[in-house]
Amino acid sequence: MSILSIASNASAWRGYEYYEGKRVLSWKQTGEHEFDGEVAGSEKQVYHVIIDTEHPKKSTCNCPHAEGKRIVCKHKIALFFTVFPKEAAEYMAEIEEYEREEEEREQESYDRIVEYVHSLSKEEFRNALINSLLEAEERDHYHY
Ligand SMILES: [Zn+2]
Repeated sequence: MSILSIASNASAWRGYEYYEGKRVLSWKQTGEHEFDGEVAGSEKQVYHVIIDTEHPKKSTCNCPHAEGKRIVCKHKIALFFTVFPKEAAEYMAEIEEYEREEEEREQESYDRIVEYVHSLSKEEFRNALINSLLEAEERDHYHY
């Protein structure tokens, strides 16, 4: 179980941005699976981060979000990606793959709708349009 897999999507993404923005000021390996680093926060503070890649939940950071808790914050992820750039590249590749699939899905539903509309007679088209306008209106009313 990697530290990345127990991080929230938001922390993983923000951690990646911190890694990209080179906010990890320094780091060193302190044990077989332990790394110690200084990570620049969003203001002027610098946080002290320790990650344990074998026992990710033992990782610590003294930022207000993670201090004293087992939360995987963006600073831990930033340090993880800085120590293991290959993991960062894989993470990014996964996100790009997901976005590609998402675009494909959107293209497919667009194609399906265009095909459907072209298959309709004028009468069918009018009825379909009336129905979807009614549905849209009901959705709006329901909303308020
Ligand atoms: Zn932190």
